[in-house]
Order: sequence, then C-alpha cells, then structure tokens
Amino acid sequence: MAVLEITNLHVSIEEKEILKGVNMTINTGEIHAIMGPNGTGKSTLAAAIMGHPSYEVTEGTIFLDGANILDMAVDERARAGLFLGVQYPSEIAGITNAEFMRAAINARRPEEDKISVMNFIRKMDEKMAVLDMPEEMAERYLNEGFSGGEKKRNEILQLMMIEPTFAILDEIDSGLDIDALKVVSKGVNEMRGKGFGALIITHYQRLLNYVTPDVVHVMMNGVVVKTGGAELAKRLEAEGYKGIRDELGLDV
Ligand code: ADP
Ligand code: MG
Ligand code: MG
Repeated sequence: MAVLEITNLHVSIEEKEILKGVNMTINTGEIHAIMGPNGTGKSTLAAAIMGHPSYEVTEGTIFLDGANILDMAVDERARAGLFLGVQYPSEIAGITNAEFMRAAINARRPEEDKISVMNFIRKMDEKMAVLDMPEEMAERYLNEGFSGGEKKRNEILQLMMIEPTFAILDEIDSGLDIDALKVVSKGVNEMRGKGFGALIITHYQRLLNYVTPDVVHVMMNGVVVKTGGAELAKRLEAEGYKGIRDELGLDV
C-alpha cells in the first residue's frame, strides 16, 4: 500500500495565498473526490502536487511513501508514481501518441525492464478498445486536432497505459457528453484496485454517479471544509454549496 499525505499545505501564486492549509491523506485502493466552487483552489492543489513552477509552496509538506515530493522536480514526481490528468491537455506536434506513451511508461522502468514493442502495442490496443478509441489515434500527434472529448479520453488512455500509483484528475469530466462521460468513467473504474489511488476534481456530482468515490472533500476558499463519503456529493448536488456554508457558518 502507498500513501499520499498532504499536510498543512499553503500555496501562493504571485504572492497571493490560494491554498491556506490543506490536509488530505489518500491511500492506494481509494478514490477521493474534491468538489468546490470555482476559484476555490482545486486546480492549484493539483498543480502544487505535480510541481508546477508557478505555484509556490510556502508552508506544509506532501509525502509520497515517506519521501517529501516537494523536493522533487516534475519528472521525478512522475517517476515516483504521480500522474496529472488535466482539463485542457497540450497539443504536441511531432510526437505521436504511441511514442509519447511508450516513453512515459519506460521512464518509470529500469533499463533491464523496458516494455517491448510487442507488449506495448498489445497493451495499447487493449486499452484503446476499452475507451472506444479508433486505432488510428495511436499514430496521431499527441492531442493535435483532437476534439475536447478525444483529449479527455486520451488523458484516460495515458492513465491506463502509464499505471501510476496516484492520479489527480482535474475536471476530466467537464464538457463531456454522456457517452464520453461513461467511457471516461469506465477507464477510471478499470484502474481501481489495491495499487492505485485517485483524486478526482470535479464541479459536478454527475461523474461521481459512475465513479463512486470512497471519500469526498469539499473545498472552499483554499481549505477543505468538510470530508465525508459518497453521500456528501449527493447532498451538494441537492443543496448546492449553500447548505454546507450554512451548516459550518461560513461566509465565503
Ligand atoms: P479552481 O480550480 O477551484 O476553480 P484555481 O485553483 O484554478 O481554482 O484558482 C484559485 C484562485 O487562484 C483563483 O482566484 C484564480 O483566479 C487564482 N489563480 C489561478 N491561477 C492563477 C495564475 N496563474 N495567476 C494568478 N492567479 C491565479
Ligand atoms: Mg475552475
Ligand atoms: Mg480548476
């Protein structure tokens, strides 16, 4: 079992404090969701975990299995088993989807254990079939000219190919139609298991109808104000954030 442990995390962007002491512990085998109003710091948390240089951690720690990842560069964090799936993936011309994913898989493996071309192709075919992706997408340049829905499927394909220990999925559901949402959910559900943990960031309960979270966190104004089970997401859907604000006496 692996643990991702975030303690008293404070993060600033351009001197402005956005995260004001976030605490969260995710174990492998668990799927956590963070919900919260726009501008509350959800993407900032994702960026800080992954090590985006514009986000300055001013206080706190993030430990992945005993190592403080705040001391690691972005690529080291990826090699340590972290994965970030984003709302707006970059388009990269000149490198195909397949080349990118093979390099990403091999970056996490020692020299004597690189994935063979045959095994790679077999795995990619299998995962693309799960996600209803046409085979030709393997040979297209990374995300170039992909529709919004195709980009999100491709993020999930990367997730399934790279098999990280922990994935942070930032609004991977936004803008998806119901069929694409189901496909994306299927991919995440296939990853579920003892060796995998996820933090799903979403505005809406909709995705959580398909990927049932073990733990739901509500974030407001840069802190986690409430943590509960899957029923908390349902309550938010019914009451909006007002119910939580009233309950906790918050005026944010
Ligand atoms: P969420 O993902 O919850 O919608 P974000 O983490 O994206 O919220 O943003 C939190 C706050 O940080 C917002 O007030 C936003 O305007 C601000 N912010 C985010 N990115 C930047 C940036 N690059 N420069 C300045 N402010 C930013
Ligand atoms: Mg947002
Ligand atoms: Mg966001």
